[in-house]
Amino acid sequence: MASATYQICTLPGDGIGPEIIAEGKKVLHAVGERFDTSFSCTDALIGGAAIDACGNPLPDETLSCAHASDAVLLASVGGPKWDSTDPAAPRPEQGLLRIRKELGLYTNLRPVQIFSALAGASTLRPEVIEGVDVMIVRELTGGLYFGRRERFYDEPGAGVNGAPGQRAYDTLEYREFEVERIARQAFEAARRRRGKVSSVDKANVLETSRMWREIVHRIHDEDYADIELEDVLVDNAAMQLINRPATFDVVVTENMFGDILSDEAAQITGSLGMLASASLGDDTALYEPSHGSAPDIAGQGIANPLAQILSVEMMLRYSFDMAEAADSIRRAVTRVLDEGWRTRDIADEATPADHILGCSAMGDAVVAALD
Ligand code: NAD
Repeated sequence: MASATYQICTLPGDGIGPEIIAEGKKVLHAVGERFDTSFSCTDALIGGAAIDACGNPLPDETLSCAHASDAVLLASVGGPKWDSTDPAAPRPEQGLLRIRKELGLYTNLRPVQIFSALAGASTLRPEVIEGVDVMIVRELTGGLYFGRRERFYDEPGAGVNGAPGQRAYDTLEYREFEVERIARQAFEAARRRRGKVSSVDKANVLETSRMWREIVHRIHDEDYADIELEDVLVDNAAMQLINRPATFDVVVTENMFGDILSDEAAQITGSLGMLASASLGDDTALYEPSHGSAPDIAGQGIANPLAQILSVEMMLRYSFDMAEAADSIRRAVTRVLDEGWRTRDIADEATPADHILGCSAMGDAVVAALD
């Protein structure tokens, strides 16, 4: 009998999702056996698969499953089948936005670290990426992506031949408590790491950013004076992340800036298939790879499952306080890469053909490399 049992709601989603989540579960169960812990996974629908089944990208049953579980493990959603510019059409991404909101997942953690075996995959020079270890802390349930928005089709005379044209707006709004709690998450993360926070805003233009900056500094001065704090304007941050990535420790920012900067930071590694993320709330958390559903390679058995496997690592670390088990996954992935095993997306000219693995074989290799 395992000493602990955890319930996990697993969301395969679309595209390569079902292939990679199978490997995540494989590693999860193998680690569970080694650490005397049982993980019970319940699959539920999200994204395009859920639209096809019931017309809703986040069915009520999926939300109930997530609420009833200790953590949620997601693969990816979306694909050309559900792409539409019709604002009334259901979209797979709405499932993602809603589950984050419904579960109160206001903090997104995206670690960006270089596996030395893959350093050559970066487009940046080796001496620039040496030692890169950044944690992007992105506010996830406020700001522009959740503000009031509207589209009007009756703008007088603005369309073709004097016909009515269009007008649209989105609003960027934050409340004090939203900024305060994400700032605290960033300072706490910095305390566990190298003690530095870069707060990214656009305070020279935006009122929300001026409020953001004031609140971040107040929290810092009151409770985290031991942490080094710098303010960086978002346009400058975009440049510095490429120019001097190794000088960043924790980067905290609002939802849209974080969306863009975390993709940019991910690209520093050169390997999208390697990066995981965690979305944390006060009661539960959701773990997923940083990449999308890769419809171009779906169903071919060649997807890289390592970001999904590393999202399992984050789940063990942040939801179940199983740091040793999490470390064992990271060591196993490092060992597999050091031994030269690759999926197609992270292989290069030097990779022998017999070292290029499919999705399932890569999952097996990680299990075999566990301590
Ligand atoms: P993508 O990340 O799906 O793919 C970009 C490129 O990287 C593709 O060439 C793909 O084959 C490759 N790739 C991505 N993950 C890979 C993996 N694990 N193994 C091997 N190769 C991998 O981004 P995209 O093409 O812009 O978007 C495709 C779909 O995914 C869209 O519908 C988009 O909306 C959706 N999407 C979903 C999420 C999510 O679920 N969180 C995130 C981003 C995009």
